[in-house]
Amino acid sequence: MTAPTRPPLKPLFDALQLLLGHAQTLQEFESVPTGDADGRVLAQDVVSGLQVPPHDNSSMDGYALRCAEAHDQGAEFAVSQRIAAGTSGVALQPGTVARIFTGAPVPLGADAVVMQEDCTPLPDVDGLPRVRVNSLPLPGQWIRRAGEDVAQGEVVLAKGHRLGPAELGLAASVGLDQLLVVRRPRVALFSTGDELVMPGTVAPKDMKPGAIYNSNRFFLSALLRRLGCEVTDLGIVPDQREATVQALRDAALSHDVILTSGGVSVGEEDHIKPAVQTLGTLDLWQIAIKPGKPFAHGRIGAAHFLGLPGNPVSSLVTFLVLVRPFLLQLQGVTDVAMKTVAARADFDWPRADKRQEFLRVRRNAAGGLDLFPNQSSGVLTSAVWGDGLVDNPANTSIVYGDSVRYVSFSELLA
Ligand code: AMP
Ligand code: MG
Repeated sequence: MTAPTRPPLKPLFDALQLLLGHAQTLQEFESVPTGDADGRVLAQDVVSGLQVPPHDNSSMDGYALRCAEAHDQGAEFAVSQRIAAGTSGVALQPGTVARIFTGAPVPLGADAVVMQEDCTPLPDVDGLPRVRVNSLPLPGQWIRRAGEDVAQGEVVLAKGHRLGPAELGLAASVGLDQLLVVRRPRVALFSTGDELVMPGTVAPKDMKPGAIYNSNRFFLSALLRRLGCEVTDLGIVPDQREATVQALRDAALSHDVILTSGGVSVGEEDHIKPAVQTLGTLDLWQIAIKPGKPFAHGRIGAAHFLGLPGNPVSSLVTFLVLVRPFLLQLQGVTDVAMKTVAARADFDWPRADKRQEFLRVRRNAAGGLDLFPNQSSGVLTSAVWGDGLVDNPANTSIVYGDSVRYVSFSELLA
């Protein structure tokens, strides 16, 4: 008798394409105060109604003048006006200079600013202060040009851009106090596993044999929130078919996404897959990555189902490489690809694997990458010790000094 042939595992690239094909951007938008929009995704272009800066202004505290009048080093001038930030002066009287401060509009007629460190204030003459200019100014120096940052009518932030601190500042700089963003995805999260115990309910010394604390729930919930999701934490679902079906059916009614961890393999205690098939469809199951093979996507009614493996590192890695781009696209982000950079491996990885691997590594002071010694999918310490992942293609061994593809956790978790 021949053993039943297993369908080949789906390569990550194909799985991601398929997954993203299902991630239709939510078509509900909300207006939020600019100050609260960090991490949200723009539902429309932000167009500037003015130029920034609105006028030529000084980038130094000093004196505004006409270069042509300051052709001799040490030339002396009357200071005919004083222009502080927030005020505007008058056209510069010929033969004089204007005292000017950073951010103040450059007066009409002036074509340069000399910083105050290059000038010597002199006693007043006829009630007007005077100054000696000790350097030879060049036309345009220390002047920030009107519109050099933003032109009027320019799209400063495009639809689908995920907002970070700099983006909030830029939106504010063109006068916007509200931004139209895609609404937050509603995600139901639950863990499966009869061995799981919530921290705080049983003291470490009282843990029964076989019991472990539920760690996935904590990092998955944090990851979801960082990605802008509204999380309903449904706790732990027992390893029973009926309870699993019930939990999935209820969650599907009021959520965009159901995210589970554990129970998605082929064991007798793995009820997730058959439960999803009872209620809806499963279109993706098992991926050629390590850690993280037992990943699944399906639909239950209008809700997406995303099933992560139970092993903590598998759960974390599949979230980062698959769920993260999915949730970003759901919110309308246009560029969801994980961006790796070339880095030098300061370690050997002699045993190539048939699956694409994600190794926990960290940057060292010599500019290379060190490998955490235990790459087991249950060792969450590797992800805390590490500061990122090496994306190692299938069937590839690594020799000390090789160039590898690296992505930092700080980029993936931002
Ligand atoms: P499973 O995918 O359900 O077969 O679980 C694989 C491994 O991950 C088992 O050793 C589980 O005990 C462990 N595991 C599953 N869920 C969690 C969780 N929420 N927190 C910590 N470990 C888990
Ligand atoms: Mg389990």
